[in-house]
Amino acid sequence: MILKTRPDEDGLERVIEKLGQQGVEPKDLDISKGTSSYIIGIRGDTSGINEGAFSGMPEIEDVIRMTVKWKLLSREYHPEDTVVKVGDIEVGRGLTIMSGPCAIESYEQLLKTARAVRSAGAHMLRGGAYKPRTSRVDFQGLGEDGLQMLKKVKDELGLPVVTEITDKENIPLFQKYDIDVYQVGARNCQNFPLLKALAGIDRPVLLKRGDHISVDEFLNAADYVYSGNGENSGNKKVMLCERGDKTADPAYRNVFNINNIPNLRQMTHLPVIADPSHSTGERRLVLPVACAAVAAGAHGVIIEVHIDPPNALCDGKQSIYAKDAKEMARQLKTVYAAVHPR
Ligand code: PEP
Ligand code: MN
Repeated sequence: MILKTRPDEDGLERVIEKLGQQGVEPKDLDISKGTSSYIIGIRGDTSGINEGAFSGMPEIEDVIRMTVKWKLLSREYHPEDTVVKVGDIEVGRGLTIMSGPCAIESYEQLLKTARAVRSAGAHMLRGGAYKPRTSRVDFQGLGEDGLQMLKKVKDELGLPVVTEITDKENIPLFQKYDIDVYQVGARNCQNFPLLKALAGIDRPVLLKRGDHISVDEFLNAADYVYSGNGENSGNKKVMLCERGDKTADPAYRNVFNINNIPNLRQMTHLPVIADPSHSTGERRLVLPVACAAVAAGAHGVIIEVHIDPPNALCDGKQSIYAKDAKEMARQLKTVYAAVHPR
């Protein structure tokens, strides 16, 4: 349930008092203060609240009973876009480009790719140290050594870094190496112990939609991080990432779900990022799909770039050549400017 009130502190107090009479404790309230109204979100079971009790109050503009469980992510609760700060970068304002290799293979490979993507205009470096692979015989990532390399390159080039966390036990290691953005991969979209633990960190989380996870399931997953739970109080720095579904057509590794870009933008206030690499699986499709996502309203893209794709240890087929990163960024910025004229 959401109550919209006029922006006035005394009025807010009176509404909170009235809610108390209805058995709602202050700890169950999430108050968002906008300039034109204050919005009070009420957590948990609100079926016992009598809406009529508020109808005569001049402070109240609107009472909205919500059927979704991820109330705090909704536009009704939070009409303005959320901007997630990563260092000096503001995700949700302008276009954010995150790129780098699928997997960190060596310090040299990471540094060369990072230099290429930085000079191409990327805002963040992505690189996987822990790789969830379908087969146990495939390269699993460099683990802690990879995190160490990321930290070194980050310090050298001043680029914030994004990397995937596969297990909550690794949070202290991610903190030790000062990882900026914790990516939750498609396979872990509903890893609830991981999501609950990430609700307790103060770093941004990039949550990928799992293969065949519905919009409602996806937003419920994001809500574990955003709204908190019994273990942790919530982490408001959540970014949503669309990365496609497997379909019956063997032509594609996955198929990008373009609907989800405008839909998530309309339903929620969180930044929406597109992953055209995993949602196509094919280098020649990455840029056109990325452009389509930006045209549809994506706040950013996460794109795999490699210095030597044919010899990449992971996802070479879908990786952009580092030498093409500049042209890719140029085209994406052109599309962004066309749909967001100043
Ligand atoms: C990745 O980003 O390299 C990755 C493993 O992606 P996903 O979780 O979307 O499969
Ligand atoms: Mn990959």
